[in-house]
Amino acid sequence: MKKTKWWLFAIITVFIIISAGWILVVKMEGEKPVISENMPEFIGKSQTFTFTISDKRSGLRKVRSLLLKDGKQLNLLEENFEKEGFPAGGKFRETSIDIPVDLDKLAISDGVAVFELTVWDYSWRNWWHGNKTHIEKNLLIDSKPPDIEILTKAHNVNQGGSGLVVYRLSEPCPKNGVVVGDNFFPGYSGYFKDQSIHLAFFALDYTHGPGTKILLESMDQAGNITRAGFYHHIRKKNFVEDSIKLSDQFLGWKIPEFNIQAPENSTNPLLDKFLIVNRNMREENEQFFRTIGIMTEPKMYWEGTFLRLPNSATRAGFADHREYLYNGEIIDRQVHLGIDLASLEKSPIPASNAGKILFTGNIGIYGKTVVIDHGFGLISVYSHLSGIDVEVGQIVAKGETIGRTGTTGLAGGDHLHFGMMIHNIMINPIEWWDSNWIMHNVTDKLNDVKAFDTQ
Ligand SMILES: [Zn+2]
Repeated sequence: MKKTKWWLFAIITVFIIISAGWILVVKMEGEKPVISENMPEFIGKSQTFTFTISDKRSGLRKVRSLLLKDGKQLNLLEENFEKEGFPAGGKFRETSIDIPVDLDKLAISDGVAVFELTVWDYSWRNWWHGNKTHIEKNLLIDSKPPDIEILTKAHNVNQGGSGLVVYRLSEPCPKNGVVVGDNFFPGYSGYFKDQSIHLAFFALDYTHGPGTKILLESMDQAGNITRAGFYHHIRKKNFVEDSIKLSDQFLGWKIPEFNIQAPENSTNPLLDKFLIVNRNMREENEQFFRTIGIMTEPKMYWEGTFLRLPNSATRAGFADHREYLYNGEIIDRQVHLGIDLASLEKSPIPASNAGKILFTGNIGIYGKTVVIDHGFGLISVYSHLSGIDVEVGQIVAKGETIGRTGTTGLAGGDHLHFGMMIHNIMINPIEWWDSNWIMHNVTDKLNDVKAFDTQ
């Protein structure tokens, strides 16, 4: 009898020690929940803040978010999370929470408010309330969308051409610029002394005829957006239709350079390889140009008319719609997004205007290429070069030799493919060779605004 009691006592003691240890270590763990660090700084008219909250050990118990303003305490979110299993812990170890904030519904005024977010876990600490993580931050409530004042007058833009608009913003806007169809052209401050005055060069790509949506859009730091139309007129352009006859001799000369595999069972590998180059590689190369334009600097490097390759004949124009003929049959159609200029073989190429070298190297069908950033999104492109004389980052003056013409890439004879872009859209360079066009559409506008530039 005595022996049995002793064993029972021992078992109970061991059980109590294990349970107590388990409670202390597991159920009363002291690890606090974690809140992802992406605190907003502003509250705009309407938005949703998203946080990731997690608690690795006991799981999430509860989350609450408050906004304190003018002595008022506004409840933004309160949510209890489920328990799970035995002995119960939180069902969720990590979750994403959305906190919608709509100033109209909350009926509070602009100014500084305190934003609070508190998360509890399922630990038994703090008399079963759990471990708590609490963050609070002063935020600026800003319900007013920015005001846009347009400072330039006529905006007559050619299909495939360029435009410039200058405007003043009533407050800092991290995102502002011109929406043209699906394209967006960022605006920049820094040209004028008054930092609230912004300029944006924009472009209509060759598909953007009359009826294309053009408007200014700006978003302030609190996410409030203002859209403003501005007077503009789009001039329709008809582009040249051109035929290019492909010979076996041309294909045999050019195609091996591209190192392309023809599809299996191809009856004409050379032609099939050409089609891969002319379609897929062209698309990849155009995509590359679209990404390079983003690297532009907010600085006006250029001045005056852009230079055209001296003593050269125009062999192809901007947005020529080309059909490719092989044995009298149309086998492909593409659009030519630059101007082809032919001079003597290996002619020196002058930088069309002052700028900074953004890229040098080989770009598929364009061959050896130099890209110059002229600032504020304006970019020039020189392709099919036989040699390159400049390096990335180098500042070049207008007229400085950057390389020599050639036949690299998909060029049938020695020439320069000259392209220009605004931000990431290829435009017709002709306008930038025309001193009258530059005066009416750029210089006069900038000078007119300088009269407002009082700071
Ligand atoms: Zn070309």
